[in-house]
Amino acid sequence: MKKEIFKWGKYLLVILPFAFACNQTEQSKQEPAINTAYMDTTINPGDDFYRYVNGTWMASNPIPDDKTRYGAFDELIEKNREKLKSLINDAMNDKNAPKGSNKQKIGDFYASGMDSVKRNEEGIKELQPYFDKISQLSTKEDVIKMAAELQAYGITPFFYIYASPDEKNSSMVIANMWQAGLGLPNRDYYVKKDERSETIRKDYLQHIQNIYKLLDKTDKEAKQLADKIMNIETKMAEFSFTNLENRDPQATYNKMSVADLQKEASGFDWELFLSSLSNVQIDSINIAQVKFTKGLGELFANTSVDNWKDFLNWKLINQSAPYLSDDFVTENFNFYAKSLLGQQKMKPRWKSVQNTVSSELGEAIGQIYVEKYFPPEAKQKITELVANLKKALKIRINNLQWMSDDTKKAALEKLAAINVKVGYPDKWRDYSGLEITRNSFVKNLMASNKFNFEYMINKIGKPVDKDEWGMTPQTVNAYYSPNRNEIVFPAAILQPPFFNVNADDAVNYGAIGVVIGHETTHGFDDQGRQYDKDGNLNDWWTEEDAKKYEEQTGKLVNQYNGFMAIDSMHVDGELTLGENIADFGGLTIALEAFKINMKEKGIDPNEKIDGFTPIQRFFLSYATIWRQNIRDKELKNRLENDVHSPGEYRVNGALFNVPEFYEVFNIKETDKLYRTPEQRPVIW
Ligand SMILES: [Zn+2]
Repeated sequence: MKKEIFKWGKYLLVILPFAFACNQTEQSKQEPAINTAYMDTTINPGDDFYRYVNGTWMASNPIPDDKTRYGAFDELIEKNREKLKSLINDAMNDKNAPKGSNKQKIGDFYASGMDSVKRNEEGIKELQPYFDKISQLSTKEDVIKMAAELQAYGITPFFYIYASPDEKNSSMVIANMWQAGLGLPNRDYYVKKDERSETIRKDYLQHIQNIYKLLDKTDKEAKQLADKIMNIETKMAEFSFTNLENRDPQATYNKMSVADLQKEASGFDWELFLSSLSNVQIDSINIAQVKFTKGLGELFANTSVDNWKDFLNWKLINQSAPYLSDDFVTENFNFYAKSLLGQQKMKPRWKSVQNTVSSELGEAIGQIYVEKYFPPEAKQKITELVANLKKALKIRINNLQWMSDDTKKAALEKLAAINVKVGYPDKWRDYSGLEITRNSFVKNLMASNKFNFEYMINKIGKPVDKDEWGMTPQTVNAYYSPNRNEIVFPAAILQPPFFNVNADDAVNYGAIGVVIGHETTHGFDDQGRQYDKDGNLNDWWTEEDAKKYEEQTGKLVNQYNGFMAIDSMHVDGELTLGENIADFGGLTIALEAFKINMKEKGIDPNEKIDGFTPIQRFFLSYATIWRQNIRDKELKNRLENDVHSPGEYRVNGALFNVPEFYEVFNIKETDKLYRTPEQRPVIW
């Protein structure tokens, strides 16, 4: 029952941790726009700008036990969480909320999750009918139908089916298939031979056994089941795409008829699966990983029904564990958070229940959230800022030396076509078909999973709804969608330290300005540039320009590959390339826009606040939003799975490519992070 956002998630500002929580440390209400007390001025800016700006903050903000990292994002998430808490509690305590109203559903869903006595009494009771059903399967066809039934509850033994715009006909929604089925974060964890990977596999085997012991299996039975599951997952890992392969939009676009899929990957009855999934007719489908479907077809044919029954059983219990009784929740935490990421303590129940309800009833909560907390002025201000940023990028594109006129023309057209969404959707989702009560958290979760699945799957074969949002207003994040060619800024990110109505312009341009620039340039990063102004996967670059672009981005790949983050693990310059391009591009155009703004408003470039000029404050502000402390295990996990570079390199990597940064902080050739002008890429 874990929700996946892989498709929208490709172009996020950050990947949020799946375990975030801390004890609230309320900052002073009068906190300055930039708190210079958080700096460590004993550090030379050219040696480590990240710690120069954030050193004292880092030393005085250790990671809380129930978190795996803690930084500016988490601080805002926690503040925002208090706002959500107040409105959710209000819904829970309102005895007069009309039955069937959003308020009733929010209140009851939350109350059911908070009722620890009932949750512990219930245990796996709501799942029992599904376990029984799995135990009675007798043919491969039965297994396929069962897997389809489970998919509606978010359980994905083999792959995900989801609706999204056709990458080559972006006005229509089609069915897509994406690999799944692994219990570890990605396929490398099954095949790598290093000590860390071996340990994680050993711990995962133990986790499977622990879960089965909770289901009253003997030690011997649990061990056998664990070996069997590991064996199947390892085989699946062998034909799964790597994270890097998944970043290639062309390689993951393989639209075909279901009949062709059947020929392409025989051994698995795809028609049966798709027709069992819902009433929606699916005739053609995009297969993201053809290698995976072929491999799965073979594996499915060569593995016994009994083994598949055990596998389905495992997927059901393992993916449901975080929402069951305390024994399952604890075992899930012990492996996925403690052992894998180094989190010391479980977050309080109210925070995890809030995460679930806020995700399942996303826009129902979003609607109340923005009524209460989102000032209409913010929308106006951000819309203006976006217009300024777009203007700045237009100037930069026009002045580019490396790009030909033909490509420039297409780039400018794409830029002009970018749609902008700020705050919250114009129309809200209707939750009236969903029934929620206080009786059972798991039952509520299954009902909402099914409701959300049907909502999604029913889009297949229909035109794309341009008004739809891929993120809720209460989310502290932002995204670019290549198929819609749009940038989206939910209400929750339009707060300090990203956007502060009381701050000087330098601070806002250095924070939310760069965020806007970051999302905008995603339309032109190594992936985004492969889509045209209408959101279709369609190469609009001249060959020569594409080559010159790659020469420049190649410099970024090398730079980030050179950052040794921990032990012998370096940042993966290719995996993080799109985000690094967006960080560098975001900085470049936000700075350009700020310079225009300074001129227009007559801001004195030499007038200092707290001892820093406006341009210096722009860079300080940028470095501030990426401050964080992170656990070793979480860092290692992210180096392998997160398409974003760690906060430290989002600062020390990106800034040292910006010429103005060298000027205003007087960076010298002898400084550790100095790069010669030839080493610095020029992209935008
Ligand atoms: Zn991004």
